[in-house]
Amino acid sequence: MKCEFCGGDTQLKKVKRQHWLKGELYIIEDVEAQVCNECGERYFHAKTLDAIDSLLSKHHAVERKMSVEVVRFGQDAAA
Ligand SMILES: [Zn+2]
Repeated sequence: MKCEFCGGDTQLKKVKRQHWLKGELYIIEDVEAQVCNECGERYFHAKTLDAIDSLLSKHHAVERKMSVEVVRFGQDAAA
């Protein structure tokens, strides 16, 4: 397909996706997406996103856990 932002060609790749469901953040690995060769924009099929929702909604294996920093943009610690 063509990228909606820059018109570049996209390529099917497996990527890591940050996915929110019911207020919880998940990192999903090996998700198929069309990725723009020019700007890197990623396009996920609606069916793929639905499949992730249903996977997370039922009992699923957890590869590992990680903690993330939550940072407010524009707050200078030195100020
Ligand atoms: Zn693009």
